[in-house]
Amino acid sequence: MAKQTVADLKDIKGKKVLVRVDFNVPIKDGVIGDDNRIVAALPTIQYIIDNGGKAILLSHLGRIKSDEDKKELTLKPVAARLGELLNKDVTFVASNEGQELEDAINAMTDGQVLVMENTRFQDIDNDFGKRESKNDPKLGEYWASLGDMFVNDAFGTAHRAHASNVGIATAMKANNKPAVAGYLLEKEIKFLGEAVDAPERPFVAILGGAKVSDKIGVIEHLLAKADKVIVGGGMTYTFYAAKGLTVGNSLVEEDKIELAKELIEKAGDKLVLPVDNVVADKFANDAKTETVEGNIPDGYMALDIGPKAIAEFENVLKDAKTVVWNGPMGVFEMDNFAKGTLAIGEFLGNLSGATTIVGGGDSTAAVKKLGVGDKLTHISTGGGASLEYLEGKTLPGIAAISDK
Ligand code: AMP
Repeated sequence: MAKQTVADLKDIKGKKVLVRVDFNVPIKDGVIGDDNRIVAALPTIQYIIDNGGKAILLSHLGRIKSDEDKKELTLKPVAARLGELLNKDVTFVASNEGQELEDAINAMTDGQVLVMENTRFQDIDNDFGKRESKNDPKLGEYWASLGDMFVNDAFGTAHRAHASNVGIATAMKANNKPAVAGYLLEKEIKFLGEAVDAPERPFVAILGGAKVSDKIGVIEHLLAKADKVIVGGGMTYTFYAAKGLTVGNSLVEEDKIELAKELIEKAGDKLVLPVDNVVADKFANDAKTETVEGNIPDGYMALDIGPKAIAEFENVLKDAKTVVWNGPMGVFEMDNFAKGTLAIGEFLGNLSGATTIVGGGDSTAAVKKLGVGDKLTHISTGGGASLEYLEGKTLPGIAAISDK
């Protein structure tokens, strides 16, 4: 179902527009490590203020378990950075409920931007418990009462029902007020949704990372949708065990071997596993390594896909028209086991005529390291959320937005 977006909002001028953004950035001693998420929220904020709206921003930052956490996880430095990026004054309010906040909102002029304090400050020191993270309906209603319209632009939390996304949207709709998707959320829904539901074919999925158990839902869902599913990374070796190959000391989830057998049977030649691997005698960058085909020898663990696997994967990918990639092909944090992941990232960056989508987390880090991010069609901002989307699950944050 298509969702309403900021472009569907009428008469923004003078209106108080609540915007749920994802400002959950890495921060240490008040210094922001990476401001990508703030930058990603700019188009929606800019649209609202350019049209004379008053942008009231809400976001969570980290997890709040004690008062001590509040010192490190204030949004104050984020508001300051946003001001630099927008090149205008941004008001920061050091609370997210009560008189100080309400007075600041009432004093806003058209086109002004206000950031209220971390929504997860509501997760402690109250009778409800985690009011934000467990979606206390009263909190959602309170926040909704502060605005005339609601825009959800936080894809990274769309797989969670929080007061600041689902709670506000529900309360707005109950009061016949708009609850729409921001540009970033719209883009995520478009690319991930179209890739899975109406892909241009051939559609190839590449799944890697550590554990089969984290990605079973995705593998199953994509096996039904994609023309080929390439599996690499640590989860490969549970599939190896299922095929009766030896795995040495490689990562294997014993309790998932049966399931891997079923998937192999069901998938037939749709499932593509690496034919060779780089194996190491210990989990370290300076380990003794060898490249082996098939069986992993005793005393060795497979930490990357091998050159034949890279060539075969590239052969599968070369004619693809839609590619979705989630998870590294090896322990890419160590240079000696990063080749497979980097090769795939580079290949995708140079694959012309295809829609290429990278689904969050470590694979995003890999494409950024390579500098090929700009050559890909879409890099999802949500790790967990993009995985759940690829599993075919309904994301509560998106479901709560008004349909077209
Ligand atoms: P995930 O969060 O499931 O995408 O997993 C990412 C992690 O998987 C990274 O930290 C990788 O180092 C790890 N990983 C990838 N391949 C392997 C492997 N062959 N053995 C152990 N860990 C791996």
